[in-house]
Amino acid sequence: ALVLGIESSCDETAAALVDSERRIVAQRIASQDEQHAPFGGVVPEIAARAHAERLAPMIAGVLEDAGVTLEDCDAIVATAGPGLIGGVMVGLVSAKALAMASDVPLIAINHLEGHALSPRLADEGLDFPYALLLVSGGHCQILRVDGVGRYRRLATTIDDALGEAFDKTAKILGLGFPGGPAVERIAKEGDASAVPLPRPMVGSGEPHFSFAGLKSAVLRAHESGRYEEADIAASFQQAAIDCVVDRLEVALEGMQGVETLVVAGGVAANASVRAALEGVAGGHGMRFTAPPPRLCTDNAAMIAWAGIERLSMEGFAPDPLEISARPRWPLDPDAEPVRGAGV
Ligand code: ATP
Ligand code: MG
Ligand code: FE
Repeated sequence: ALVLGIESSCDETAAALVDSERRIVAQRIASQDEQHAPFGGVVPEIAARAHAERLAPMIAGVLEDAGVTLEDCDAIVATAGPGLIGGVMVGLVSAKALAMASDVPLIAINHLEGHALSPRLADEGLDFPYALLLVSGGHCQILRVDGVGRYRRLATTIDDALGEAFDKTAKILGLGFPGGPAVERIAKEGDASAVPLPRPMVGSGEPHFSFAGLKSAVLRAHESGRYEEADIAASFQQAAIDCVVDRLEVALEGMQGVETLVVAGGVAANASVRAALEGVAGGHGMRFTAPPPRLCTDNAAMIAWAGIERLSMEGFAPDPLEISARPRWPLDPDAEPVRGAGV
């Protein structure tokens, strides 16, 4: 099967053609970093406008790159949430219009499911079940993935997401936007033990996360004027990694019959995070796998792939054209509420 994937839930506009052989046949992506940088974060109205301007020519572009037409596709797959509603609507409404015009089935994908299944696009040998650390700009969760559509959330953050903590640290240090890659870059020149920073939640019996206190400590360290930026970045990154490792250790204790540890989402692009997780997996005799960095941050190939996964399920049915965009959409709707936590 060949599908067209569309992603527009945050600040990357992306389209991709992916087939069931895991080939990314064509892929285009446009980041809006330049538009949002002056504001130090994503401005929803600017994002929606940029998606609306870029998406149609981008879709035409990937079809042209691959030398195929919409009618050659077995499904048109779009992110339907969660995310910034204006952007999600641009992508979903475009997909509906194309599906209607071409009579190709529509598949509406949860963006988090795109991240959650992205490791299977990159790694043919990755079978269910697996333990998933999903670390992105808006989410920080540990899930048990038993199959397509079968996600059990074991942990979430009670305040900030991990990517958000990287972005806020970058903002405090004046490193610009987006922050994650910039923090990683200067952390390489810093001393990770130079700045004493807290490790929120470490030692807690529940595997949940908290990063707000770490961010405040970064701010205080910076304002004290006693530390170099690179040392703060390195110390922050190490503190964040220590938290993730400790929380995962707790979550893995309670997970039976899972032989692979997987990381996905934008922060999974971070080499130090990946190295630490490889260590955790090794300690549990588990295999570790992570998508290549360009599949960790937002992209349309992972959305297309989630569509392929859905298409190949028994009893597959396309989504109705009247399906709505959802600003909030938990992967595990049955997860117990956690005080202070979002989805
Ligand atoms: P969500 O997926 O929760 O809706 P999002 O789509 O905005 O949020 P992603 O695109 O998956 O998030 O990830 C973006 C986040 O990843 C940003 O917070 C960014 O700073 C972070 N990030 C990207 N690269 C790195 C890196 N090398 N190191 C640390 N963080 C990174
Ligand atoms: Mg982005
Ligand atoms: Fe994302």
